[in-house]
Amino acid sequence: METRFKKPLLDWYRKNSRKLPFRGSKNPWKILVSEIMLQQTTMETILNRYPLFIKQFPTISSLAKATEQEALKAWEGLGYYRRIKNLRNTALICCKKFNGKLPKKYSELILLPGIGEYTAAAISSICHNEKKAAIDGNVTRVISRFFSVEENVSKSIGVKKIKKLANKILNSESPGDHNQAIMDLGSMVCTPKNPKCLSCPVSKSCSGFNSGDATKYPIKNKKNKSPEVDVAIASIKENGKILLVQRPAGTMLEGLWELPGGKVEKNESIKEACVREIKEETGMSIRVDRKMGTVKHAYTHLKVRLHIFEASIKDHKKNGSRRLIWTNVNEIETLPIPTGTKKALSIIRK
Ligand code: SF4
Repeated sequence: METRFKKPLLDWYRKNSRKLPFRGSKNPWKILVSEIMLQQTTMETILNRYPLFIKQFPTISSLAKATEQEALKAWEGLGYYRRIKNLRNTALICCKKFNGKLPKKYSELILLPGIGEYTAAAISSICHNEKKAAIDGNVTRVISRFFSVEENVSKSIGVKKIKKLANKILNSESPGDHNQAIMDLGSMVCTPKNPKCLSCPVSKSCSGFNSGDATKYPIKNKKNKSPEVDVAIASIKENGKILLVQRPAGTMLEGLWELPGGKVEKNESIKEACVREIKEETGMSIRVDRKMGTVKHAYTHLKVRLHIFEASIKDHKKNGSRRLIWTNVNEIETLPIPTGTKKALSIIRK
């Protein structure tokens, strides 16, 4: 069974691999950046952003020398900002402990911030030929279909089964190409809906295809619908400058700058939430003058409706919980700003 998977897969990959800006590279830094970006960001976005990021930070030491705010700015719009903080921390550790290089072995890579099993396996196999199967969502789908895995892959029993099979069918002569080949197969042929089984190189031996019900796999828990949340935010301007607050440590989007405001609680109006949140964050009492508009923004686990108000300050006490900055509207672009705030700023600038 393994041979009937490995050889046709590799033959197919050598003719059909995706043309990606990091493909063909065995530079561990480039592979690390690409793999970290690929987590939670679409390929379309990565095709634009990866070359720009690598141009700005071509080496590990170049990112280690950047401030956290510079690194956040370079990651702006890619989401999941924990990833860039971990990447920078990894760069700092590599400069201190490994002479500005990533360690080679899976067992050492996995100890670095933000590098999990998948990323460590991808780097060690692609760059150093280590025999480790890299397993992400694409790979899980291909393997669960090929072997008709009946175990739930959202549970540890299913995860273990996929890991065992993925390592069993790994091509030990070319583990890096094998890992990239199976990722490409999952992304181009064995797609979540309507897999192209008739043009698949491993269809002859694919148990899912031969059962006539490939899309039954992988068996996993159903996703809960993302909750929708109302958030009230304000444009507060004085002397030609607008007030921004910094996202606090330990929260989503930590370190980025946004318009002041927050979540509307039960039993309060959107305007009341705006006044309360701004008092808590900045210590200032405000007067809400008018509604400017609403924008929507979706995170993977949450949808938000941002209600934007124009407001003015009644008193300037500064004993709130957040770090504040008054900035010229045209200079906002020099700060790292979340995408939801950018959408709100486009309404304010009208
Ligand atoms: S034959 Fe179909 S289900 Fe099986 S691996 Fe290929 S695309 Fe996926």
